[in-house]
Amino acid sequence: MHFDGEVMRIFQSAGLAEKIGNVARASSRGMHFVNGEGRTLMVRRGIDGPGPHGWAGNWYFHQPILEAVLREGLKRFANVRVHLGHEVASVDDLDARYVVGCDGARSLVRQAIGSRHVDLGLHQPWLVVDLLCDPTSARVKALPDYTVQLCDPARPMTVVNVGGARRRWEIMLMPGDDPARLTEPGIFWPMMARWLGPEDAKLERAAVYTFHSVVQQGWRSGRLLLAGDACHQTPPFLGQGMCAGMRDAANLAWKLLAVIKGDAPDSLLDTYESERLPHVRTFIDLAVKLGAVLQETDRNAAAARDRRFEAGAEMFDFPQPQLGPGCRQEAPPPVGTIFPQPRLADGLLMDEAIGQRFAILGEAELLDGLRADAVLLADVGRDWLERHEVRAVVLRPDRYIHAVARDRRELVAATLELARTFASGCSRPSRP
Ligand SMILES: Cc1cc2nc3c(=O)[nH]c(=O)nc-3n(C[C@H](O)[C@H](O)[C@H](O)COP(=O)(O)OP(=O)(O)OC[C@H]3O[C@@H](n4cnc5c(N)ncnc54)[C@H](O)[C@@H]3O)c2cc1C
Repeated sequence: MHFDGEVMRIFQSAGLAEKIGNVARASSRGMHFVNGEGRTLMVRRGIDGPGPHGWAGNWYFHQPILEAVLREGLKRFANVRVHLGHEVASVDDLDARYVVGCDGARSLVRQAIGSRHVDLGLHQPWLVVDLLCDPTSARVKALPDYTVQLCDPARPMTVVNVGGARRRWEIMLMPGDDPARLTEPGIFWPMMARWLGPEDAKLERAAVYTFHSVVQQGWRSGRLLLAGDACHQTPPFLGQGMCAGMRDAANLAWKLLAVIKGDAPDSLLDTYESERLPHVRTFIDLAVKLGAVLQETDRNAAAARDRRFEAGAEMFDFPQPQLGPGCRQEAPPPVGTIFPQPRLADGLLMDEAIGQRFAILGEAELLDGLRADAVLLADVGRDWLERHEVRAVVLRPDRYIHAVARDRRELVAATLELARTFASGCSRPSRP
């Protein structure tokens, strides 16, 4: 249902932002955690207008429509073959240089790699239903436009405005529930009484999912790699599971390209897990903490929880974690975090001016005469540089910050180090 502004920027890098923007709903609203009496406990803030990534901060979509745009987009590449309705039975004796297993939570490629499963503790079944709502109904019109996490110990729920007539309810299963019978009208509509009745909406689709919090250690073995739910699963309380998989793809894509073209040695791929795993853990750990707030079903514990927020709602944002150790300067943030996407003086978004390359942004004086295999952009991101008290920044093709420099000497050192990295490869990082 949801992706964030950074993921829209990844779609932009795939040349699909406009098409996806046409089928997804941009929202400036956030996510409200509300108790059983309707009092707001916590708010994940929304963002007004284009956010730091140059796009709205939150987007809502219907999965089959988004997938259709992605599949259509693949047709632009004559070298891509799509085999729908085929099952991979084993991976061995490969012809391919690399295989990326994006084969979900039960990944076969993961089994071939033999990754280590780390259970982060949350496993809970929820009923997920999509409703097509009558736009003329007064009760539908009164539904909130922001996402609601209803922290009612009697029955936790999530309510999302997907877009158009479609709204999503996620309803936690409680002891004594018979999952097979929950959508029977006599059981379903009483659970929905707070929001809608059968005269307001039609049930389009329903399924029970068990939400998991799991990471794998070992995302690579030789030519096999993993991405997405194959190597991490988060409960969807932040709408960030697919987003994490998209970030995996963005991290891996430029590295695979560099290795396949012979610009970097194969060891560059060892930086993929070391960078991504701590990043995705931050999101999963937060989703698990939010799950503890939302999924509290003990009335006394819920009342104690509510008292913690008596002074007012707690506000928070999506985390912006630093990548783990890998192919970047070993330095504290902002190194290893994603750089924003400003609009340039000629109206282009920054990434359009850079393409799939390294880039160096900084004061014109510092960049003058600099020799580096990167796009040089003078006087771009000036506010950001000032705020971080640096005079230049080196960006990777995925726009994460490779290095920062406070003077010309540091900048030259960073570019030399980059050239060495690509001549000799990043050293194998220690496991975070
Ligand atoms: C209720 C719910 C709500 C969610 N909401 C959000 C949200 O709002 N935002 C968000 O970012 N994330 C959300 N997520 C998480 C998101 O759905 C997943 O993180 C995402 O789908 C993972 O994508 P994936 O491609 O890695 O794996 P999957 O979506 O599981 O895809 C794997 C694919 O591989 C195929 N496959 C597997 N094995 C084989 C084989 N042997 N041969 C051939 N094909 C194979 C499968 O059929 C499947 O098509 C939600 C999840 C749930 C359950």
